[in-house]
Amino acid sequence: MHFLASLFRRGSALVGAWLLAGALLANPALADRAPTDASLSAAEPITVGEAFATAPLQTHIALFEDKTARREFDDVRAHASFEPAGERGTSFGFSHSAWWVRVDIRNERTHDVDVALRQDYPLIDYLDLWIESEEGGWRTVHTGDRMPFDSRPLAHRDFVFPVHVPRGATRTVYLRFASSGAVNIGLSLYANEALLESISLEQLAYGFYFGGFCVLFFYNLFIFVAVRDRAIFYYLFYAASYGLYFGVHDGLSFQFLWPDNPRWGNQALLVLLCLSLYSGMQFARHFLSTARHSPRLDRAARALLALDLLALAASFFLPYATLIQPVAYGTIVSVGVMMAMGGLGLARGYLPARIFVVAWGALLVGVLVYMAKTFGLLPHNAFTQNGFQAGALLEMVLLSLALAARLNDLQRQTLTDALTSLHNRRYFDAQLEQSFARARDGAIALLIIDIDHFKQINDSHGHARGDAVLIELGNLLRHSAPRGATVCRFGGEEFSIILPFGDEARAAQTAEDIRRAVEAQFKSGLGVTVSIGVASSASQSYGNESEFFHAADEALYRAKSMGRNRVELATADDAAPVARSGVDRRQPVPPNG
Ligand code: GH3
Ligand code: MG
Ligand code: MG
Repeated sequence: MHFLASLFRRGSALVGAWLLAGALLANPALADRAPTDASLSAAEPITVGEAFATAPLQTHIALFEDKTARREFDDVRAHASFEPAGERGTSFGFSHSAWWVRVDIRNERTHDVDVALRQDYPLIDYLDLWIESEEGGWRTVHTGDRMPFDSRPLAHRDFVFPVHVPRGATRTVYLRFASSGAVNIGLSLYANEALLESISLEQLAYGFYFGGFCVLFFYNLFIFVAVRDRAIFYYLFYAASYGLYFGVHDGLSFQFLWPDNPRWGNQALLVLLCLSLYSGMQFARHFLSTARHSPRLDRAARALLALDLLALAASFFLPYATLIQPVAYGTIVSVGVMMAMGGLGLARGYLPARIFVVAWGALLVGVLVYMAKTFGLLPHNAFTQNGFQAGALLEMVLLSLALAARLNDLQRQTLTDALTSLHNRRYFDAQLEQSFARARDGAIALLIIDIDHFKQINDSHGHARGDAVLIELGNLLRHSAPRGATVCRFGGEEFSIILPFGDEARAAQTAEDIRRAVEAQFKSGLGVTVSIGVASSASQSYGNESEFFHAADEALYRAKSMGRNRVELATADDAAPVARSGVDRRQPVPPNG
């Protein structure tokens, strides 16, 4: 808990940033709000000259807020007092008003032009448009993300309205924005060629971006099929819901996944946010084994999970505007808890937790870059604008690496003896088989080491003291084994060493050195000694690794029966599995026997 406190003290800046990040997640409009400029200029028409390609309309639009949200077009056109938006922000966060926009488009070319009016924030519930027509009437489009996708004049994730302006003429366009989510007005005008160029580049970028999500998803899906790990399952769940969340955010999910289902399209943002939070938290819990290592934090995580499911269920009954705020706060708290979980993982020296924390850091950096841009600290460019989304993909890549590191760690654990941290029997068996197969090129030797009268040590000093002896002996073996040797805890108080050379005399000398080192180490204490059997694949020829092992084991048995605390070499007789008296050396032998 002290650690947590200091983590929070040092990380309070981080947590602050995350608070903002959560708010951003819930309401991107807040981020885009620019400082208000009091000196309003008159809204000039946008002119389409010969060289015109594209321009933002920010300084060309006039705005009118209809607080009743009830006024009709003719009334607004005739009586409403529009004001130039000027440099003023055109993001209004949550608003019950209808926002009217007027813009004049003047064609100064020597021929008629077709241009496109583009609204770049696609999550507007209702977006209506009126364009002056040739005959003097008004042509209308009624669309928005609460309408089926084919209500759009152009099938695109953003709203794109074609406008025809005759040579020398000026066309007035009115738009009406109404949304239960954030109202972000992001209008720009494109010459058709410029729109084509712009869109083809954007689609390539989106292809890369969502392609990245897909690759990560399928790559980890295959791994999941093979290993059935819960953390991987939640990773898949997280990648899918977070990827889809961005798909909804960018307007692509509506276009390609559920174009005829605007109701679901609107609910999806909340549902996917809840699912992302749920799976992200479950991923963190399983990845870091939080239930085992910090039950209190895990209880907090489970409480958040329950709230999350509640919000998920509520999203089927309550409107977006009501739920998004509590969900935003839930996001903030969840992220704080996940960071704390990662921090605890680091504190207990769990290496994969490092990548976990770096991954969340990547998302954080993306969000910070995005915010720095919003507050004018960084220039507005493709990198800063998309920092948040890019950070999310980078997070996914890093979490995938973290999963790989975790699998490695798990595999290492299954091959490691928990008490002594030496290799275990499973590792030994595999290693002996391999080394023996390779021994045709270079011979190997095998030492089997058994503690003498270990049962008595346990009996008279207790099991804990026995364990301490095993640990101490394990360390001694690790340090006294020659380079390239494989040291294993083979069984209870039996150890084995595979030597990377077959020279019998040298192997015997190594064994003798170890025997003496053990004797010296425990001389003043418990007087622990070991007996060692030695076999070399160079001095005898063995049919397979079992015969080889058997020979070393026989030699050990002889060392035991010849008085213990000694080294014995395998002989030709030891090679055959039958050449033994029938007495199992594992049966208790009297101390003097
Ligand atoms: P010998 O000299 O013939 O090898 O006698 P021994 O007592 O060492 O042999 P035996 O195989 O009869 O006894 C092995 C003992 O090792 C029995 C068991 O209690 C103890 N042992 C096995 N694994 C562990 C362990 O993980 N910790 C502790 N403390 N004791 C263990
Ligand atoms: Mg023993
Ligand atoms: Mg034994």
